[in-house]
Amino acid sequence: MSDVMVKAEQVCKDFGHVQVLKGIDLEVLNGEVMCVIGPSGSGKSTFLRCINHLEKVNAGRLYVDGKLIGYREHGGKLHELKEREVAAQRKDIGMVFQRFNLFPHMTALENVMEAPQRVKGEPAVVVRKRAAELLERVGLAGKMRSYPAQLSGGQQQRVAIARALAMQPKLMLFDEPTSALDPELVGEVLDVMRDLAREGMTMIVVTHEMGFAREVGDSLVFMDDGIVVEKGAPREVLTNPQHERTKLFLSKVL
Ligand code: ADP
Ligand code: MG
Repeated sequence: MSDVMVKAEQVCKDFGHVQVLKGIDLEVLNGEVMCVIGPSGSGKSTFLRCINHLEKVNAGRLYVDGKLIGYREHGGKLHELKEREVAAQRKDIGMVFQRFNLFPHMTALENVMEAPQRVKGEPAVVVRKRAAELLERVGLAGKMRSYPAQLSGGQQQRVAIARALAMQPKLMLFDEPTSALDPELVGEVLDVMRDLAREGMTMIVVTHEMGFAREVGDSLVFMDDGIVVEKGAPREVLTNPQHERTKLFLSKVL
């Protein structure tokens, strides 16, 4: 295991003529909680999606735990990984989206059990026990048999977090996990994320929750127009931004 969990070197991504990521350089250390802020359309989701194989980078290199994402390097050339190899890399990465994306026809417990059962082929009793423990950990011990429609948005999002943790990832990606929630439900989800951070999970969190970024983040990145404008200690970036674009953005959201 290396000290660096995520390394991005000049990562570029375009969709046809639209260049969305224009050379992202970043490092996330093992155990680091990196929060990412920036205006809508700046490429935050695309960056997370590249890390999690939902998009392919066009240029540059992206490493998770020392492994090149999506490609094998051979004789100075990059070759795309096979589906099976991509699946193996993805197991190490958990992702939580703005919308909870739970399977509506499965209970909370079944949602958490689904991936490990399908991918790892572990015995059902082992998977079930771990899923129950995870639901307990996110405060939903009493809701294991509930279906998503019977749960609040905050509860559904906590199930989604438990589901991502079920694969025992090395890295957790959160893409605006509280943006779709009613304000009174945001706290319960942030509390679960805070606990996870305390336990040493490496996390990249795209968020508008500046309080969370300040308290829980080890670092804060401001992205704009496909580049990292600045990265620093959250308190520093929030109170003493170095770039005009950061100042302008913060003046609108703080
Ligand atoms: P953010 O998460 O910071 O709001 P996104 O990464 O979602 O930004 O999007 C950045 C830009 O990329 C936007 O202009 C968006 O329209 C564009 N984009 C994202 N996904 C696609 C896609 N699949 N096809 C075309 N354009 C896309
Ligand atoms: Mg986004």
